Amino acid sequence: CGIVGAVSNQNIVPILVQGLARLEYRGYDSCGVAVYANGLKRARSTARVSELMAQIATTHLQGTTGIAHTRWATHGAPAVHNAHPHFSHGPGADASSRPGRIALVHNGIIENHDELRASLQAKGYLFQSQTDTEVICHLVDSLYDGDLFEAVKAALGSLRGAYAIAVFCKDEPHRLIGARVGSPLILGVGPDSQSHYLASDAMALAGVTDQIVYLEEGDVADIQLGKYWLVDKAFKPLTAAQRPVKTVH
Ligand code: GLU
Repeated sequence: CGIVGAVSNQNIVPILVQGLARLEYRGYDSCGVAVYANGLKRARSTARVSELMAQIATTHLQGTTGIAHTRWATHGAPAVHNAHPHFSHGPGADASSRPGRIALVHNGIIENHDELRASLQAKGYLFQSQTDTEVICHLVDSLYDGDLFEAVKAALGSLRGAYAIAVFCKDEPHRLIGARVGSPLILGVGPDSQSHYLASDAMALAGVTDQIVYLEEGDVADIQLGKYWLVDKAFKPLTAAQRPVKTVH
């Protein structure tokens, strides 16, 4: 339902959860946040964003790269284990004893999730949820070979349906990849041009930045500290003139 993501040189957890609070009006049944903090860490809740904030205050969750989500369940009951962000720990029966490698949030519906789940299970991936979203997370993991942008682009070719996603990887902790087909996603450029953000709606970044790039259908964004990179649906690089930074009011 709602997505917020950030790459910064400062703790972004307050920006992520404030962003979720600004998207609450759209409705949701659960919410969650994941950050890079010496590995992937997350907090999830089936209660309000305010409850998520209380959990975060108790556990002192913080990090400079992260993603957050409000979920409106389409596949899998509203429950903590189905709340986003989802993690992939890689394939194998011992996966859960390994640290998480890929963290992902998703708005929309993946129509061919059954077929993708079966092929990932055949590769040894264990599923922790009943969501269509978790297949994207393991699919990206299965294609990951040191470059998250390449892994996400390779995964997109197998997905049918509508999605906006934001993904990061513990092996490249200062990088976030976003993609959209059929669901909105925007990129925010921080006032210092160092921090970069992703969100399903510019409103989520109110008070954080008014410098917004609107992604078009099929665009993929690679956001990092101090730079970002966009490609179109054919993965052709986009110029600043093709996807200009606009000031929102
Ligand atoms: N289909 C996904 C799920 O049920 C995402 C729903 C959403 O857009 O919030 O988990």
